[in-house]
Amino acid sequence: SRPLAGKVALVTGGSRGIGEAIALRLAADGAAVALTYVSRADRAEQVVKEIERSGGRAWAVRADSGDAGEVWASVAGAVERFGRLDILVNNAGVGVLGPFEGISLEDVDRVLRTNVRAPFLAAQAAAAHLAEGGRIISIGSCMAERVAFPGGTLYATSKAALTGLTKTLAKELGPRGITANLVHPGPIDTDMNPADGDSAELQAGLTALGAYGRAEDVAATVAHLAGEGGRYITGASIAVDGGFAV
Ligand code: NDP
Repeated sequence: SRPLAGKVALVTGGSRGIGEAIALRLAADGAAVALTYVSRADRAEQVVKEIERSGGRAWAVRADSGDAGEVWASVAGAVERFGRLDILVNNAGVGVLGPFEGISLEDVDRVLRTNVRAPFLAAQAAAAHLAEGGRIISIGSCMAERVAFPGGTLYATSKAALTGLTKTLAKELGPRGITANLVHPGPIDTDMNPADGDSAELQAGLTALGAYGRAEDVAATVAHLAGEGGRYITGASIAVDGGFAV
C-alpha cells in the first residue's frame, strides 16, 4: 500500500543519514520528495536516483539551512516542482560539542541558524502552502530530554528550542487541521555519530537497549506521523532513542 500517494514532502538534509532514510521511506510510502543538501550533491543525486528507480518522484536542491533566502527558495522550489506541499521534515542539523567555555560566537550563530532558525523559517514558509492534513515534523535530539554528559550546551540549547516551536505551531496550525511534532533520536549510526566512533560505546551504554539505532528506525516514526495514523498526534515529542532519555 502507498499511504502517502498524492502527497508532497520536503526533507531538509535528505542527502545522508537520517534525512536520507526519511526521504527514501516517504517515497516508498508514495510521496513525491524534495530534499535539500548543502555540500554533498553526489549523495543527494544518489537518493533521487534510488527513488526514481523504484518508480517514485524526487528532486534535490542545494539549500544551506544557515541562509534564510536559500531556506525560503527550497520551500518555494518544492511547491513549484511538485505543485503542492503536504509534509515538511526539518531534519538538517549540525552538532558542535565541547566545553562550554570554548564555544565560539561563530559556532553559536551557525548552530542556531541551522538547527533553530531554519526550521522556524521553513515552517513559516511551508505553512502558507499546507492544507488540511498537513504535517510539520522536526528532528530534535535525545539530548534535549536528558543531558547525560557534559559538552552539549550549544547542541542541547538548539534542540530544546524545537520543543517551543513544535508546541506553539501545534496550537496555531491546529485549527487548520495541520499537525506539528518533534522526533528525538537517540544515538543513530550516521556520519555525524558513527556506531564505531570514539564515544559510541558510552552512548550505547546510556540507552536502555544498550545499542545504537538505525536511521530507518527514525524514518519509521516520521512516516507514521506523516500518514493517516498521525492525524490525532500534535505538539508531541516522540523519542526514538532506545531508552536513552529514560
Ligand atoms: P549527518 O551529519 O549524517 O547528515 C546531515 C545531513 O544534513 C546531510 O544531508 C547534510 O547535507 C545536511 N546538512 C547539514 N548541514 C546543513 C545545512 N547547513 N544546510 C542544509 N543541509 C545541511 O547527520 P544525521 O543524519 O546524523 O542527523 C540528522 C538530524 O538528526 C540532525 O538534525 C541531528 O542533529 C539529528 N540527530 C542525530 C543523531 C545521531 O545520533 N545521528 C542523534 C540525535 C539527533 P550534506 O550531505 O550536503 O552535507
